[in-house]
Amino acid sequence: MGVMKITDIHAVQPPTPDSPPDWRTHLGQILVEVQTDTGLSGIGVGGGGAASIHVVRTVLRDLLIGREAGEVEMLHHDMHRHTSCYGRKGLVIMAISGVDLALWDLRGKAAGKSVAELLDPNVDLDRAIPTYATVFDEDDAKVALNAGHAAIKLHVERFGDRPDESQIAGLVERVRDVIGADGQLMIDAFARWDIDTTLRIDEAIAGFDVAWLEEPLAPDDYAGYKTLSEQSQIPIAGGEHEYTSAGFKELIDHRLHQVLQPDVNWCGGLTTLIDVYRMAQAAGLRVCPHRGCEPFALPAIAALDLQPLAESPRTWFNCLQNAPKIHEGVIRLSGAPGFGVAVR
Ligand SMILES: [Mg+2]
Repeated sequence: MGVMKITDIHAVQPPTPDSPPDWRTHLGQILVEVQTDTGLSGIGVGGGGAASIHVVRTVLRDLLIGREAGEVEMLHHDMHRHTSCYGRKGLVIMAISGVDLALWDLRGKAAGKSVAELLDPNVDLDRAIPTYATVFDEDDAKVALNAGHAAIKLHVERFGDRPDESQIAGLVERVRDVIGADGQLMIDAFARWDIDTTLRIDEAIAGFDVAWLEEPLAPDDYAGYKTLSEQSQIPIAGGEHEYTSAGFKELIDHRLHQVLQPDVNWCGGLTTLIDVYRMAQAAGLRVCPHRGCEPFALPAIAALDLQPLAESPRTWFNCLQNAPKIHEGVIRLSGAPGFGVAVR
């Protein structure tokens, strides 16, 4: 592959009027474009809003201009090294994620291959990848299953920080009834419970064949997760708010989760996600990326995942065109070069 020098890097936060009124709006998704002297440019999406845009426009842009765009892993390493004093988790890594993904997009476009093909030359581009939908009650669950989703995730945040286990168990039982014994069911606790609450609820719903219990505790409560991973009957999932390979190495080495859910647009980009797959698979743990139906996570799910299941996408980030869509409950890669998306 010829030399492809980086000439400029731009970042903006597209308006998303329908995003939830919380940090996901204020520090929302950013669009990153890496331009090169060949005329090719790559598109990535990161997180962190204006704060992250500042990091891209200053530190990362200065660091990368004039560098060879094809050396993605080296550039990724250098971005971490130059920001590690002030950004080992959170906003800075969300910024790096957007640049990393734009570099992978460029790598694919330069090779005339989709990112999935870069990850596995033998990947089946037509494969129907099963998806799951998040639901709130048994009626939603029925609609989601009828739409063809392979699994459903029950959202229970509305029951508060210390819910009564019988309330949650009642809901889980009603949902299990409507989806039948074979339907896959997960629970998301939104990082609001404590150890005792989690173990009470775990005990109350363990008989309903729950595939995973997601983020019961705050993301940095490693000691709590260690206790849960040893005592919970239901597999514990988490990691959408973890960052970098070093961060995931902690989760994996200490087996704090049975299911790891890196967010490719936040955790450090595809370079990090590949690392997470490698480390988790070596440890015999499952990876199920956060918002897996979105165009930046789907190639890794198609090419690297042993048990592919893609989470339904965010609906409010709609500035990209040609992103794969769920059809009859499954999703397929676009097959176009890079991540296959363009800015609307
Ligand atoms: Mg979640």
